Amino acid sequence: MTHGHARHNKHSRTYNSWHTMKRRCRTKTDDNYHYYGGRGIKVCKRWDDFINFLKDMGIRPPHKTLDRVNNNGDYKPSNCKWSTRKQQANNNRKQARWSHCKRGHKLMAGNLYYFSNGSWRCKACVTRRGRERGLK
Ligand SMILES: [Zn+2]
Repeated sequence: MTHGHARHNKHSRTYNSWHTMKRRCRTKTDDNYHYYGGRGIKVCKRWDDFINFLKDMGIRPPHKTLDRVNNNGDYKPSNCKWSTRKQQANNNRKQARWSHCKRGHKLMAGNLYYFSNGSWRCKACVTRRGRERGLK
């Protein structure tokens, strides 16, 4: 169990962070693309390779998620750190003042929904979609 992370383990926490980071920035159909790639946030070329990401960032510590120092900056070694979700939520709240979601809801502290991986979306959209799907 403690040896798995050293290899290219697709199920490791670190790999998962790398994968979702790339998705948010590059996959237009990703739920969070609007807040990342859609705003021009990129992943540096070096991090196309998971091994480089692992070398630069190290293993993802428990209960931490990938965070950017400058929320308007790219995903690159000089702008990334592992943060607890609380630190990241504070950053996101500050950043949220500038914008509305793609459906026009105002983004502010009370209107953000945080996922367990540290990403967030407009709460109104999340709950609306939940209702449409017949979820709670
Ligand atoms: Zn919305």
